[in-house]
Amino acid sequence: MPMLRLVATLVLAVPISAQAHPDAAIRAAAATITADAVTRDAAHLASDALRGRLTPSPGLDSAREFVATRLASLGVKPFGDDGTYFQWYTVRTAALDSNTSRASVGAREFTYGEDFVVTSLVTLGAIEGEVAYLGSGIRAPKIGLDPYATIDVRGKWILVHGLNALPAGQTRETLGTPGVDWTTAMDEARSRGALGLIALPTPAVLNGWSRTRDRAVTGRDLDPAVGRAYSAYPLPRLSVALSMLDAMLAGHGTTASVILRADSTRIFPAPFVAGRLRVDLNGTVGSFRAANVVGMIEGSDPARANERIAIVSHLDGAVGRGVTPEGDSIYNAADDNASGSAGTLAIARAMMTGPRPKRPIMFVWDSGEEVGLWGTRHLAYGPLGEQLVAMVNVDMIGGTKVPGTNNPGEDELAGPGEVFISGPGPLSTVLAGHVQTALDHYGYATARREFDVPESQFFYPRTDSAPFLENGIPVVQFFTGLQPRYHRQTDEVSYLDPAKMEAVSRQVYVTLWHIANGDVRPRWDKPTPDKLWFVTPRR
Ligand SMILES: [Zn+2]
Repeated sequence: MPMLRLVATLVLAVPISAQAHPDAAIRAAAATITADAVTRDAAHLASDALRGRLTPSPGLDSAREFVATRLASLGVKPFGDDGTYFQWYTVRTAALDSNTSRASVGAREFTYGEDFVVTSLVTLGAIEGEVAYLGSGIRAPKIGLDPYATIDVRGKWILVHGLNALPAGQTRETLGTPGVDWTTAMDEARSRGALGLIALPTPAVLNGWSRTRDRAVTGRDLDPAVGRAYSAYPLPRLSVALSMLDAMLAGHGTTASVILRADSTRIFPAPFVAGRLRVDLNGTVGSFRAANVVGMIEGSDPARANERIAIVSHLDGAVGRGVTPEGDSIYNAADDNASGSAGTLAIARAMMTGPRPKRPIMFVWDSGEEVGLWGTRHLAYGPLGEQLVAMVNVDMIGGTKVPGTNNPGEDELAGPGEVFISGPGPLSTVLAGHVQTALDHYGYATARREFDVPESQFFYPRTDSAPFLENGIPVVQFFTGLQPRYHRQTDEVSYLDPAKMEAVSRQVYVTLWHIANGDVRPRWDKPTPDKLWFVTPRR
């Protein structure tokens, strides 16, 4: 690994006089955020010693202690559990044992691997109920498609033609907006309390059979599994062979060949309830704990103590198993997201140094982002999410596309001095206003806005802002975009752009300051975007 040469700079944490013109004081505090300081912290977090900071791992524990020690030295108040900086959550794990897992329909016994396979699970145990055949399982009331109108699927298995089977004559375009005009079997199964999903032995299912059979089936998710974005599917999914389909249909007025013919015609038989299926999912269950780091900087106006702003950076990295030809097996996660974690540390220092805005600011370095947004789901759906009026996400701020180059994988990378901003435009007049004021007045960075639209995957559900959006909290995200080293062993600190990290961190600081100090509190006043149809905005 290349070593990074650093010039040590002494940053003096001198409190800036309250008498000073606030603008000058804010600029002076912003100036404490330096390329050297941010790069030094990013280099530590992304060092080989911390091994990429997988959740959970000793490297992530070490990163967590590093952040907490810094917060203590800055005088940031602990705001995690029991007066500490750490907010703990539990992750539940399950590993299926294919040798002891079995199924039965009436008196007939079926064998794992031959008659059925499990494609996903979260928990183990015995699951028993009737099987409801629902065709595609899609519900689209506008075209008169609602298999759930005649059959209550609560406590039943749902038997469907695979997750992408659309009725004859329909495409994703004709069906309209997913989640609004139509919903999937998975959505309906979950919201209606079904036991699980069963895929028919279609050619696609049978083609993948041996691969599915030989795969280790494990599940893990935040416990309780709050949230939608990146939460594991909470119901088991099975694929069944013809033997088991025959048994389920026996005595119910149809045959496996009639049902399977519909897989190609897409003209599905009417829904009906078939036999009773019991599945015994055996194996090993377990759990572990992981933590977010949370600190609080109180505001200057006690009347606004309940109008908290959160600034969030995920501290964990996406650790893979590959080894490069050069022998590098460590996924250092420097840009994603040692850069943002270090930037947010520098912003905490600036906030403690500079003038205090009216509203309190909660600083969060979450974990579990890369494996399922565990930390932010736990936080946003818990008590700490309750008094938030806005969330600022800082995730990947060290990337720069060199002008005139066209490297593969750099199509969505910001240029020199540029940062993508996503969130405020479609959500909040107040937030969008502060973002613009901070850009116009300070201009440490230049904004790129192409992802500030609900259609963007970065708007929702792909980042840590997702659980906050689900709770009706408007967000502002800063990121410099994807680079070719994203989620690879080569995401190393030597590739980070120190000037970019300084510029973006300063821009985030002044934006955060204005959001926290504004006369009007942030509100989600714009119409709810279609893809967030299930959200009640905090207006
Ligand atoms: Zn990230």
